[in-house]
Amino acid sequence: MGFQWTDFTLFVLLFMLFVSVIAFNRITQTHKVYLAFHFVMMLWPLGQFAVKMTDYTQFQLFFINTSFVAMGLLGPGWLIFVFFLTGRAAQLKASRTLLYLLPAALCIIGALWNPNGLFMSPVAGNYLERVYGPLFWLLVLVQFAYFFTALMSMFHALKTVSSVNQRKQLGTALIGMFVLTGFGLLDVLINVLLSQWLPIVPGLLASGILLSDLCFVIAIYRFGMFDILSMAQRDIFEHMTTGIIVVDENDKVLEVNRGASPFVQSAKGEIFEMDRFLAPLQAQGEVYEFLYRYLHHPYEKMQMEFSLPENGGRHVSIQISPVVDDRKTLLGRIITFHDVTELRKLVVEMNRKNEALHERNLELITIQEELFRVNQKLEQMAVTDGLTGCFNRRYLMQQLEHEVLLNMRYQIPFAIVLFDIDHFKQINDKYGHLVGDEVLRSTADIVRTKLRRTDILARYGGEEFTIYLPHTNREQAELLAERIMIAVGDNWVDAGTEKVHVTISMGVLSETSEDLSFDDPKEYMREVFSSADSALYKAKNEGRNRVVMAL
Ligand code: GH3
Ligand code: MG
Ligand code: MG
Repeated sequence: MGFQWTDFTLFVLLFMLFVSVIAFNRITQTHKVYLAFHFVMMLWPLGQFAVKMTDYTQFQLFFINTSFVAMGLLGPGWLIFVFFLTGRAAQLKASRTLLYLLPAALCIIGALWNPNGLFMSPVAGNYLERVYGPLFWLLVLVQFAYFFTALMSMFHALKTVSSVNQRKQLGTALIGMFVLTGFGLLDVLINVLLSQWLPIVPGLLASGILLSDLCFVIAIYRFGMFDILSMAQRDIFEHMTTGIIVVDENDKVLEVNRGASPFVQSAKGEIFEMDRFLAPLQAQGEVYEFLYRYLHHPYEKMQMEFSLPENGGRHVSIQISPVVDDRKTLLGRIITFHDVTELRKLVVEMNRKNEALHERNLELITIQEELFRVNQKLEQMAVTDGLTGCFNRRYLMQQLEHEVLLNMRYQIPFAIVLFDIDHFKQINDKYGHLVGDEVLRSTADIVRTKLRRTDILARYGGEEFTIYLPHTNREQAELLAERIMIAVGDNWVDAGTEKVHVTISMGVLSETSEDLSFDDPKEYMREVFSSADSALYKAKNEGRNRVVMAL
C-alpha cells in the first residue's frame, strides 16, 4: 500500500492546472475544447487511484471503466485539439467530428460491454490485477492511430507555419505529445506486457498526461497559444477580400488566403511563378517592366494595375512588398491582389464629370464676357445719342450737376456752349431727312475734332448741341467757339448729287472762379442754360453764323 497516492497526487496536480487555465485565461472556443480535453485527461489518474481505494468489485469496475473511457477519449481529444492549435478549427464540421470520434466510441463501448472478458478480466475476483483481452489491444492500437494522425498533422503545420511564435507553440505542444505517447508506450510495456516479470510502476500514463499537460500550459502562457489577437489576425487574413500570398525567397508559397482565389490559383507549398501568372495578360510594356523588376530587384516594393479579361474585365492592382529580417536579408515577399474595378469606374466617371464641368465653365466665361460687352454697350447706349454718337442730354445734366459742385469747391473756371444749326429745316425740306441726319452726324464729328478729351459734347435736342468746357476761361471759350463755328462752316456734306454745308449760331456762357457760388446745383444749372440760351437767341437774331458771349 502507499503508492496508490501517486495517481491521486497526479490527479490533484492536473486538477490544479485545470483550475489555473480557467482562472488565468480569457475563455474562447479553443479554451473550451482544451478544458474538456483536460477534464478527460484528469479522469485517468482519478480512476487509477480510486480503484485501489476500495475492495468492492462493483466500485472497482466502475473506476476502471472511468479510466478506460478517459483513455479512449484521449486520442480523439488530442486530434481535435490539434485542429484548433493549427488554426483549422473551421474544417471541423459536426459530421466530421463525429466521424473522428467513431473508432474511439466503438472501443469504449467494447471496453464497457466487455463481452466474455474480451476486454479484460479480474485476477482472483479482484480488479486490482487484470488480464487484458484483444479488445484492450484494439483500444491501445486505436489510441496510437489517433496520436500518429495528430502528430502528422502537427508536423505538417510546423512546416507551413511562418511565424516564429507559432512555431514555438507548436513545437512545445509537439514535445507534449511525444512525452504522452512515450509514457503511454512505457505503461503498456511495463505494466501490461512485462507485468509478470517486472514490478508494477504506478502512475506512468498519468505522469505522461501531467507532463504533456505542462507543455501545453507552457505553450499557453509563454507563447500565447490562445492569444485572441493572433487568432483574430488569422481570421481577418483568411476572410479579407484582398488576396494575399506570402512566398519565401525561392517563391515557394508559405501562406495564401481565400481572397487570392479570384485572382490566382495557388496553394501552400507550390512555387508561385510570376512570369506564368503574367503571361496571359496583354503584353504591355508595363507588364514586362514589372516582371523584370520582380525577377531582378527582389528588394523593391512595386505595384502595377492590370485587367483580367474574365468576369467582364476586372481591374486588379498587384503589389509586391519584400519581407526582410534584422540584417536586411530577404526572407520572402508578400504579394497582394486588390480588385480596383469600382475605383477605376469612379475615377473615370469623375474625370468625365470634371471635363463636363470644365466645358460648362468655359461656356460660362464666354457668356460672362458676352454679358460684359452687352452691358458696356447698354451703358453706352444709355448715355449716348444714337444718331450722332454724342452724349445725350440726360448724361450731360447728370455730369454737370457733379462737375459744377467740384468747380465751385476748387474755384475752377468753366464754359457752356450752346449751338444750333442755322436754317436746318430747309435742309430737311430740300434734301430730305436722311441728308438732314447726315448733316447732324457730320457736324457732330467736326465739332468733336476740336475738343479735348475732358470736354463733353452732347446733343441737347433736335439740331441743338451743348459743349461743356472745364478749366476754360472766357477768352479760351470764345476762341474755341469761333474755331468750331468756322470748322462747321467749312464742312461740306454729301447730299447725293451735290454737296451741302451749314452754319451754326453759338451762345457761350463763361463762369470765372470768382463769381462761382450757388446753393442748389439744379437751380444754378437752369440759370446757366438760360443765359447760354439767351446768347444763342441773340446770335440767331443778329444774323446767325456767329458767336455771342453771355453776360
Ligand atoms: P433756325 O435757323 O431758326 O434754327 O431755323 P431752323 O430751321 O433750323 O429751325 P427750326 O426749329 O424751325 O427747325 C428745326 C428742324 O430740325 C425741325 C425738325 O424737323 C428738324 N429736326 C429736328 N431733329 C431732327 C433730326 O433728328 N433729323 C432731321 N433730319 N431733322 C431734324
Ligand atoms: Mg436751327
Ligand atoms: Mg432749333
